[in-house]
Amino acid sequence: MTDTPSQNKVVLVFLGPPGSGKGTQAERLSKQYNLYHIDTGSCIRAEIAANSELGQEATHYTSQGKLVPIDVVLNIIKSAMEKIDPDKTGFLFDGFPRNLEQAEGFDRILGQLPFALNKVLYLSMDRRALTDRLVYRVTCADCGTKYNLRLNPPKTEGVCDVCGHSTFNRRDDDRPETVNTRLDEYEKETAPLVGLFKTRGLLVEVEANRPITDIERELQEIIEAVYSENNVVLA
Ligand SMILES: [Zn+2]
Repeated sequence: MTDTPSQNKVVLVFLGPPGSGKGTQAERLSKQYNLYHIDTGSCIRAEIAANSELGQEATHYTSQGKLVPIDVVLNIIKSAMEKIDPDKTGFLFDGFPRNLEQAEGFDRILGQLPFALNKVLYLSMDRRALTDRLVYRVTCADCGTKYNLRLNPPKTEGVCDVCGHSTFNRRDDDRPETVNTRLDEYEKETAPLVGLFKTRGLLVEVEANRPITDIERELQEIIEAVYSENNVVLA
């Protein structure tokens, strides 16, 4: 829908359950490769902050405590994609699309823009490992240092390595019953996307139950292969 030639930007989607480390990797890699890191929550908040027409539409729902409808979300994402800084090498979607309906909408948007989806990077982890990661996550109440009481506990039980404080907080989201609900919801909504993108030959699965630097290295190799296949030059 534009006269300018294809802008040679890559489009990547990060898919993965809560606890897979997807958000952390998305943030680090988007900085490293100068990608536009897109998550729907920040796009919606940016439009609201700008008080744009789309922002006002979103506010209409959020002010009533309602979810912003999918069509409005899609328009907001399309608008964000149209406004990409020319210096950016492409897009890294984090947590979108999260279900089949959003994936269909994403196809429609991409059909109207000079971009195509290049790869879906799927951080996979079995449910038991995810539960361990989430349920044992705590933060020092004083200095904010993060621990996992099973995988990465403080050196002395109950005492923060950094500040010596002995009170730790756990997010409400990480209570065992909430974790189960979150994982059920993820499996129901997002797991069908894995099948969809696999069928399209776009999915690359990365085992996420490994040290963070190993996962990062594998993701870097996949991303660099996408750049070279699409003749996108890295700065
Ligand atoms: Zn501390």
